[in-house]
Amino acid sequence: MELFQSHRAEMISIAVALVAIAAGTSYYYYLTKKPKGCLDPESFKEFKLVKRTQLSHNVAKFRFSLPTPTSVLGLPIGQHMSCRGKDALGEEVIKPYTPTTLDSDVGYFELVIKMYPQGRMSHHFREMSEGDYLAVKGPKGRFKYQPNQVRAFGMLAGGTGITPMFQVTRAILEDSDDKTNVHLIYANVTHEDILLKEELDNLATNFPNRFSVYYVLNQPPEGWDGGIGFVSKEMIQTLCPAPAPDIQILRCGPPPMNKAMAAILADLGYTREMQFQF
Ligand SMILES: Cc1cc2nc3c(=O)[nH]c(=O)nc-3n(C[C@H](O)[C@H](O)[C@H](O)COP(=O)(O)OP(=O)(O)OC[C@H]3O[C@@H](n4cnc5c(N)ncnc54)[C@H](O)[C@@H]3O)c2cc1C
Repeated sequence: MELFQSHRAEMISIAVALVAIAAGTSYYYYLTKKPKGCLDPESFKEFKLVKRTQLSHNVAKFRFSLPTPTSVLGLPIGQHMSCRGKDALGEEVIKPYTPTTLDSDVGYFELVIKMYPQGRMSHHFREMSEGDYLAVKGPKGRFKYQPNQVRAFGMLAGGTGITPMFQVTRAILEDSDDKTNVHLIYANVTHEDILLKEELDNLATNFPNRFSVYYVLNQPPEGWDGGIGFVSKEMIQTLCPAPAPDIQILRCGPPPMNKAMAAILADLGYTREMQFQF
């Protein structure tokens, strides 16, 4: 009887230990897998629009509040989020967007959105007023940024393709331990189409040895001293870092531009590893 009781006590201790180990392991996995910040990669979360600033006739900056004034969004640098809305016919639409803010901006995040007359998600943003909520899911994207992962980035952006470039550039320049140089070529149709121009010019002034920006316009105004037409092979050769294992060229623009840039880069000897398209 005594032997049976001591055996039983031993079994109970082992069972308790096993349950404790299982609970500890689950808790560890919960903590490590739990997304940091306010985003959830599996489900849409709603964020309140607290400020809408019209920047031009078809571009606006949208500021969304996070749950508390000290919350951070938690979007890794160079990644984007899926935003869900309704088009003019009331049908659901989901599109990717990159905030222009970083996790050093606490309590909120901002999107700079260009709204196209026929654009489906553009309609949703056009209709949004302060106090409305936007459904957001993320993070998304293959780009993984680490400080000093390359010696230099060349960036080829077109239109709204500037937002991921701006985010990566800000992260690099705001980190005093990051020595990466950034050479941006930014293409648009008209001068009014250039997004974040003031912010980009300020970065170029404040970090003259680490960041340069060259604007290219299809329809330049009189006296324009930037590039004219489309981004050319010569522009890339002159302004971007030459092919090397420790550089990378990032691309983000409308599909025809991305295609044209990929062909030029291949022609100039940039390997697949030396390029990334957002
Ligand atoms: C990684 C990533 C990040 C992005 N970040 C941003 C961002 O921060 N801000 C932002 O405004 N957009 C961003 N975009 C673009 C965004 O995802 C949508 O494609 C854009 O808002 C248009 O969607 P839509 O549904 O309104 O237009 P759609 O219904 O897809 O298009 C309707 C019409 O709009 C016009 N159109 C659409 N897109 C373009 C374009 N790029 N250039 C020229 N004409 C166009 C065309 O005439 C098209 O026929 C990003 C895209 C990617 C891939």
